[in-house]
Amino acid sequence: MQNWKIESKTAEQGHQLPVLAHVDVLVVGGGSAGVAAATTCGRQGLKTMLIEKYGFCGGAAVAGLSGTICGLYTATDEGEPQQVVFGFAEEFRQALLQRGGLTEPQRYGKTYTVTHDPLMWREAADDFLLEAGVEVLYHTAVTGVVMDGDNYQGVVLESNAGRSVVMAKRIIDASGDAAVVARAGGEYFFGDNGVIQNPTMFFRLGGVDMDKYLEFYGEDTICPTKVTEKILELNASGEYQLPRHKIWIFPTTRPNELMVNATRLAGQDGRVLNVIDPVDFTEAEVFGRKQVREYARFLTHFVPGCENGYVVDTSVEVGIRQTRSIEGVSKLSNDDVVNCRKDEDGICRSPWPIELHSGTKPKLHWLMNDWYDVPYNTLIPRIGDNIIVAGRCLSAEHEALASARVTAQTFEYGHAAGAACVLSLKHDKPLRELQGREVRAQMNLGDSRL
Ligand SMILES: Cc1cc2nc3c(=O)[nH]c(=O)nc-3n(C[C@H](O)[C@H](O)[C@H](O)COP(=O)(O)OP(=O)(O)OC[C@H]3O[C@@H](n4cnc5c(N)ncnc54)[C@H](O)[C@@H]3O)c2cc1C
Repeated sequence: MQNWKIESKTAEQGHQLPVLAHVDVLVVGGGSAGVAAATTCGRQGLKTMLIEKYGFCGGAAVAGLSGTICGLYTATDEGEPQQVVFGFAEEFRQALLQRGGLTEPQRYGKTYTVTHDPLMWREAADDFLLEAGVEVLYHTAVTGVVMDGDNYQGVVLESNAGRSVVMAKRIIDASGDAAVVARAGGEYFFGDNGVIQNPTMFFRLGGVDMDKYLEFYGEDTICPTKVTEKILELNASGEYQLPRHKIWIFPTTRPNELMVNATRLAGQDGRVLNVIDPVDFTEAEVFGRKQVREYARFLTHFVPGCENGYVVDTSVEVGIRQTRSIEGVSKLSNDDVVNCRKDEDGICRSPWPIELHSGTKPKLHWLMNDWYDVPYNTLIPRIGDNIIVAGRCLSAEHEALASARVTAQTFEYGHAAGAACVLSLKHDKPLRELQGREVRAQMNLGDSRL
């Protein structure tokens, strides 16, 4: 190992740390975006490394147990929703299906979603990365960046083995939290003037009599009015404290099991929790678990079929919908989403509604029989070279992000970021000089449709 002098904008300045590796592409974060990005680069023969702080991939979809792939299908009042997103998201969907780790399409209001098994998600991701020749480091966190002016050169890693550096020609920040960009002093913002969507702790309920449950609840995973009315009645009586009135429940691939998206977490003093702050993160975890028990008590007492239900587990971490969004070369606006704006430099379609979680009832704004395009430049920070983001930290206004953050799309942002790195290195061209349409063409080399 050689030693490297850190020219970092962070507190690392002046320290000497061992260099663990020199790679073509370093991917920070193994959520849906990071897995897609690293696989795309590895398959093209680039020396690719993925760093993940947990011991498995999946991020919000697995550790956060968000549990379904949303964003594949259009919303419609006429006939069946149509699948309009393919690419890596479709490849991963197929891989889960082949393992028996995915349900058939399930009704979610005017569209469909599909529920996945979180263990099989991890295994599928391991296989994708292994087959693509990606070097993966689990249980390792990125804690700093190595900068030369505004050029990203590498990152500082931390594990219980100590600290080291990985130097990279290109870095993909797929941390969800824009962890790399933020540590480099890059520009970012939080939601609507600092107000972000609430976190939710998911749980799974076993021991359910599915026939009885479905007969009462119906096929739609969004709860029927009678469930909301019961929640309101119980809250009014003071017997229960159920802060969210409209809840989602998904039958899983396992027998007699439901996955429940019900909790709404705010600070004990009523403040919006921002889980970037470990104080808020801790409060969300502790009171999330308490709220899970309260919703489980409600289900077992008032939802037929759930009488003998028990909490199988909660998510590994509270589900995080939103933290930092980067200030990008372009920003996806609320109007772009509502008006289903198409963009010739789009790298991904999104037909998913604005699904905004704040307050007692999530807001849903459907995009009927249509979709919008997410432009490539929403992944490129306004300042800095050799860096691209992938995933939910893209540059998007608050309500736009409430649509653009779901998993089919985050897979495709990763796919796009990986394709962009391939082109950038092949043609020795800065990431910010690439056109979205050439990135899309590169993505489509491996796939029949976007
Ligand atoms: C409660 C909730 C419900 C949701 N429901 C759905 C749903 O039903 N369907 C759907 O499609 N989407 C849903 N979503 C959205 C979706 O799950 C996420 O937006 C998406 O999974 C984000 O993917 P990502 O790859 O951008 O980020 P993440 O999944 O957040 O991945 C980031 C990864 O980076 C790692 N990381 C972060 N910082 C570091 C660091 N410094 N060093 C190393 N590793 C790091 C993290 O551990 C994580 O694995 C939901 C989200 C939440 C929170």
